[in-house]
Amino acid sequence: MTEPAVQSRTGGPSLPQERRLVTEIPGPESRARLDRKKQHVADGVGTMLPVFVEAAGGGILRDVDGNSLIDLGSGIAVTSVGNSAPEVVRGVQEQVAAFTHTCFMITPYDGYVDVCEKLAELTPGDHAKKSALFNSGAEAVENAVKIARVATGRDAVGVFEHAYHGRTNLTMAMTSKNMPYKHGFGPFAGEVYRAPMSYPFRDGLSGEQAAARAIDVLDKQVGADNLACIAIEPILGEGGFVVPAPGFLPTLAAWAADKGVVLIADEIQSGFCRTGSWFACDEEGVVPDLVTTAKGIAGGLPLAAVTGRAELMDSVHVGGLGGTYGGNPVACAAALGSIAEMETHDLAARARAIGGTMHARLTALQERHPVIGDVRGRGAMMAIELCAPGTTDAEPARAAAVAAYCHQQGVVTLTCGTWGNVFRFLPPLSIPDALLDEGLDVVAEAFAATA
Ligand code: PMP
Repeated sequence: MTEPAVQSRTGGPSLPQERRLVTEIPGPESRARLDRKKQHVADGVGTMLPVFVEAAGGGILRDVDGNSLIDLGSGIAVTSVGNSAPEVVRGVQEQVAAFTHTCFMITPYDGYVDVCEKLAELTPGDHAKKSALFNSGAEAVENAVKIARVATGRDAVGVFEHAYHGRTNLTMAMTSKNMPYKHGFGPFAGEVYRAPMSYPFRDGLSGEQAAARAIDVLDKQVGADNLACIAIEPILGEGGFVVPAPGFLPTLAAWAADKGVVLIADEIQSGFCRTGSWFACDEEGVVPDLVTTAKGIAGGLPLAAVTGRAELMDSVHVGGLGGTYGGNPVACAAALGSIAEMETHDLAARARAIGGTMHARLTALQERHPVIGDVRGRGAMMAIELCAPGTTDAEPARAAAVAAYCHQQGVVTLTCGTWGNVFRFLPPLSIPDALLDEGLDVVAEAFAATA
């Protein structure tokens, strides 16, 4: 039976934290809007779960049909503090009423500098740091490469298999997977070289062995003297939530430091408490030269940053970094609110607790369903890789079937991985335990129903 759509559009943590389905998914209101989307929005902009959202908060997305869905994706690791988190709303409302834009390159304002000061405090390492702010993760990665090139006077960029760094021309070149990110969009930027990544489930190598394999490629096929930088996600995001074997990152970092190669940690997906620390690099004490951040930094508003060693950041001539909107005052206010939420509620600890629950539940599920070849991740960035039992032959069709079942039952889940066979979990850190449990119950049901 279809109930009338709920009237109030207020989201945030006061939104009732319960899964509630009143129509099929997508419901009639969403389907009508999908027809409009089809008419006005380019087909290249796909949607995975086509329910139109009208309010969200905590661990819930409520759609225009009045369905309340459990959010296990956080808009791809963005709303870590929850949608419309109180400090984000407060900061944005104050800022938007004061002024919306001046362009920091024309007349500066405090919010931008406040965010840079916070980034210096929170990112790995206690050396002198500076930041520059941008609009998107891809833009941050591009600028990190620009900085590394100016600082070193070298051209080459080392990247890794299964990497994802964005959709601009340079970051497409840096990204591994063809479909859908690169197909037909070439020619791509030059001087980008790919080394093998540590992928313990598939290569069985220790961190040191995998690092030696990667370093051999970079050294012999590119030449350390030609490398401006190596860019790496400390835990792969779109590439499948692969956690490199312990020792891989520190060995690479030591090699890069020795050769004068700038180490760029792309923490765009793994940063800001997601993995149970402020940054994934913290786990192994790796101190990158430059860190790129975005997504979770600003509670849903578009903001990104490059933070790094002051002398590297300052190697670029005045006017060489910037952009009309980079570090927009409203986005900066959102970032300060988002960081305040993380500090006040110790969301890194919350991510570790969520990770504990998810790891236990997913390991138990693996015992019942041998198609789950690997359970991996850290904190609230957890995944399962689906393969034919006892092999590493990818099972993307099963992942798609499990996801479709979850969507029908009102649980937003995401897939990823080079073979499309990885099911990833990125719940908002504000999700109540009961809702997380219920979401994982539905995932378990989905495996049983699609067996
Ligand atoms: N790097 C990583 C590790 C990412 O996960 C993403 C986004 N998925 C990006 C870069 C690109 O960020 P954006 O979509 O904001 O450009």
